[in-house]
Amino acid sequence: MNFESFNLHPSIMSGVRELGYVTPTPIQLQAIPPILQGQDVVGLAQTGTGKTAAFVLPILQRLLQGQRGCVRALIIAPTRELAEQTHDTTQRLGKQTRLRSVTVYGGVNMTPQIQKLRGKAEIVVACPGRLLDHIRQGTVNLSHIEVLVLDEADRMFDMGFLPDIRKILKHLPSHRQTLLFSATMPDDIRRLAHDVLRNPVTVQINHTMPLTTVSHALYPVEHHHKNTLLMKLLKHPDTESVLVFTRTKQRAMSVAQRLKKAGYIATSLQGNMSQNQRQAALDGFRKGSFKILVATDIAARGIDVSHISHVINFDMPDTVDAYTHRIGRTGRAAKTGDAFTLTTQNDNAMVRAIENTLGMKLERRKLEDFDYTSSSAHNTPAVPLQQSQRHHRRTGAKRAGSHTSSDSKPRYHRTSEKPFGKRRSSHAAHSSGSSARKPHSSHN
Ligand code: AMP
Repeated sequence: MNFESFNLHPSIMSGVRELGYVTPTPIQLQAIPPILQGQDVVGLAQTGTGKTAAFVLPILQRLLQGQRGCVRALIIAPTRELAEQTHDTTQRLGKQTRLRSVTVYGGVNMTPQIQKLRGKAEIVVACPGRLLDHIRQGTVNLSHIEVLVLDEADRMFDMGFLPDIRKILKHLPSHRQTLLFSATMPDDIRRLAHDVLRNPVTVQINHTMPLTTVSHALYPVEHHHKNTLLMKLLKHPDTESVLVFTRTKQRAMSVAQRLKKAGYIATSLQGNMSQNQRQAALDGFRKGSFKILVATDIAARGIDVSHISHVINFDMPDTVDAYTHRIGRTGRAAKTGDAFTLTTQNDNAMVRAIENTLGMKLERRKLEDFDYTSSSAHNTPAVPLQQSQRHHRRTGAKRAGSHTSSDSKPRYHRTSEKPFGKRRSSHAAHSSGSSARKPHSSHN
């Protein structure tokens, strides 16, 4: 099955080709036909599955017909980053259609947004709070809306946006197509879907399951060794572009700071930053000028960087869903990725919950040249380097001495034969020998 089978307009197909999409992803295969037919759709799919194009392509197809110069499609997203990313995808896929999209979110001046809204765009991608501000001020006209998308609805619920969404709904024409995308279906989202969608078709991709292209591993460690262990993990040449998650903003800042001091090209993304700083961090990470981004869950929501090679959970997330969302950042659109989690004893209950949800035991790994018993936060190699190198040669495995599984019972899910998980075959030549560190780093 290819994109031609959707009979999209040639101007849209040129965008599809421009973005290099050849084969539709499963969510696109399932969702595009009913959306093109005008049906309401509930899409159970997480970020990384290609869900954005699954709704953007049929929206563009619909908007090609009919009136121009008024807002006919509204996409509501939980964060500015996701809004920008969806806007970007819309612009790129719709480049030849001359349909216009604008973003509306808080934390930036309203005036340029008002001017852009007056500029007669057909698509608005908005975060709920700021959209409500525009509605109250009368600076956006939603009376022509034909399609509404509620994207990452579960995250909007987590972030407390459902009351705002219900208020926004009152300002939309009741005769419209509504599409709701969510990685999970908590009761409140189920109720919302029931209230606002008409006879929806439900399409489901790997419900709450992390992408199969991601290999997972746990690195049990004492809390005070986390920083050193992180540095060790980052030394591996497989690391191309690494997203590190911390529990708090402060921790994101301090971990990024430490990494920078150690010579890594790292930055942080957290709620204390201005919109411009956040955008600069994201753009830098996307372009590869930052190899490591240390982020909190909320800040990292919707990050679309297709080449993330590793997600490292410096802190265990609070919920299984958050774990799923975090690791959805790697292994996007059928690329493979690795998800590592540093776990302390306090995380045992969450580890069990994740394993129950995934239906498999995660591999525990131990670094051989790491002194787990040291009382100091500054760990030094327990095994002299030469000795560990001899071990590599003896086992014949690529850097086999660096990482071993502490539990090799067959019932464990072995993420890969190689210590750092699967190699991305398409990237192998390019990435081997490249690490997330500066080439001339002082951290050697
Ligand atoms: P999303 O789940 O919408 O955030 O998309 C995840 C990533 O997959 C983005 O980088 C998209 O550009 C990419 N993508 C979406 N659809 C396809 C496709 N059919 N083929 C290849 N890449 C895709």
